[in-house]
Order: sequence, then C-alpha cells, then structure tokens
Amino acid sequence: MKNIAVIGAGTMGNGIAHVFAQSGFDVTVVDISANALEKALSTITRNLDRLIGKERITEADKEATLNRLKTSTDLESAVGQADLVVEAATEHVDLKLKIFEQLDAAAPESAVLATNTSSISITKIAAVTKRPEKVIGMHFMNPVPIMKLVEVIRGYATSDEVTSQIMELSKKLGKVPVEVNDYPGFVANRILMPMINEAIYSLFEGVAGVSEIDTVMKLGMAHPMGPLQLADFIGLDVCLSILRVLHDGFGNPKYAPCPLLVNMVMAGKLGVKSGEGFYSYGHGTKELIVAPSFANK
Ligand code: NAD
Repeated sequence: MKNIAVIGAGTMGNGIAHVFAQSGFDVTVVDISANALEKALSTITRNLDRLIGKERITEADKEATLNRLKTSTDLESAVGQADLVVEAATEHVDLKLKIFEQLDAAAPESAVLATNTSSISITKIAAVTKRPEKVIGMHFMNPVPIMKLVEVIRGYATSDEVTSQIMELSKKLGKVPVEVNDYPGFVANRILMPMINEAIYSLFEGVAGVSEIDTVMKLGMAHPMGPLQLADFIGLDVCLSILRVLHDGFGNPKYAPCPLLVNMVMAGKLGVKSGEGFYSYGHGTKELIVAPSFANK
C-alpha cells in the first residue's frame, strides 16, 4: 500500500493524514469544506514544528512529510488511485453509507475501504458496497499522532487477508493495533462509555460533586483524567450518541444515558468545544461549574 486517501479533514482526519504522510505514504485528504482542508494543513504543520522542537524529527523530515500530502474537495478523483481509503467524516450513519457507496464506485477494485467510526456498525457500512470483505474499521484515538492504539474492527464479512494487511500497516505507522469484532461500541467505547455514564449518574444522584468524582478516579484508579473531564474532551453530544448506539444495539437498559447528560446536550453544554460542560473552559483555565441541577442534589 502506497497511496492513501483520507476522507474528512477534521480532528481525526488531519491526525490520520499526518501519521501516514510522516510514515512515508502518499496521502490525499478530502473534505467538502476547503476551509477544513486549509485548517488541517496548518494543524499538521504546527504539529510537525512541535516535533522539531522536541528534536524528534528534522526540518527535512517536515518538508518531506508536507510534500507527501495533497488536499482535494473532489472525492471521486482523489480515490481513483488509492490502495487504501480511511474515512473520517462526520459521525452520521446516512452520511457514511453515502460516502461508502461513492468510494465503492470510484476506488480501484483492489482498494481496502476503512472507517474510523467510533460507533457505527462496520457490517452495516460494508453492506452498501460490493466488496464487504475489503471493508474494515480502523479506529484511531485522539490525538492521533500521540495515541498508540488502533482498534482494528472486523466486520461480519471482513476477510482474514484484509485484517492482517491492516494490522501490519498500523504497525508501520508506529501504532499498536488490536483486533476486535464488530459489536456495538467495539471494545473501547463499550467499556469507556458506561464508565462515563456511571460517573454522570453519580453526580446526578448526588453521590459526589464533579471534582470529587474525577479525583477518585484519577488518584484511586490512576486514570490520567477523570471521567467527567474526559467526557468534556470527547464532547457530551458524542458520548450521548455512542450510549444510544449501545442502548439500541444491545437492548439492555444498563446502557440508558443518564438524564443529566441528555439535558446538558439539549442545553448546548457540550464540553470543551462549546466552552462549558462539567467544567468551564472560558479563560483557558479549568473552573468548576456550580449549576443548580448539581447543587440541588
Ligand atoms: P470532525 O467534525 O472534526 O470532522 C469531520 C469532517 O468531515 C469535517 O471537516 C467535515 O467537513 C467532513 N465531512 C463531512 N461530510 C463529508 C463528506 N461527504 N466528504 C468529505 N468530508 C466530509 O469529526 P472528527 O471528530 O474528526 O470525527 C471523524 C470520525 O472519527 C467520526 O466517525 C468519529 O466518530 C470518529 N472518531 C472521533 C474521535 C474524536 O475524539 N474526535 C475519536 C475516534 C474516532
């Protein structure tokens, strides 16, 4: 595999394009928004500069990495020569199904089509293509250049050959791939999201306050970040939608999202991206919000 197309130039797409280009692959990043593509290139440049500052790469490595990166708003032509497509567009099932139909029609027959989805069924995505054996989940973690894990998700029809190809490829990116099967939430979110939900329930039921819950998990379980702060970083809307996937997928009430999470998302309190969630991020400092719903409990 030499030519890689990355669909979506947002938070994850720019990181995925960065690691492929830095590892010697030719990469075309595709987005419907020219602005997102510009932003992605400046983020990648800034992150490469940071690596130069830490003496992890040289100025020449940076130039070579940037020279291997192209951008495009035309999906069909960008994937025409691709050996692998990694889709990292917005997490909406209908959008992903439409993109995979387009990819199936435009990419070479031999190309592997991967998705970075956090929660949508790989099997469902594969079913809209004529090559379900070549569709696979490649779930990178945020921030992609730093986090080592790639959860490699086998859909119902994904072949052994494609799975081992993607496992090997992930190692070439300096990552540690872990193979899992395609069930709701895969492994990462199936375990992480109920923990976050339980932390929100503990707050909702007045068991403890925001900083107490996070401190217990940081100091008691050696987690680098408490679950409520982590939820703010992931985005409360994203947490809610993944919990709904688990709830629908298993039909088990244990995955029902906490009503406080539902309320916060409806109120537009989405965490870091909206400036406020369980914490306030207004001035670059982290301050506790003492919202009435918490204080009343
Ligand atoms: P994002 O909103 O930052 O970026 C999504 C990008 O997709 C946007 O730039 C948007 O313009 C683009 N896009 C939308 N429709 C498109 C189309 N038809 N063709 C090309 N580009 C299109 O989202 P993100 O956080 O980077 O998430 C991307 C994917 O990665 C999602 O599936 C998400 O579940 C998954 N993911 C996210 C994280 C995370 O922490 N953010 C972690 C793991 C996986």
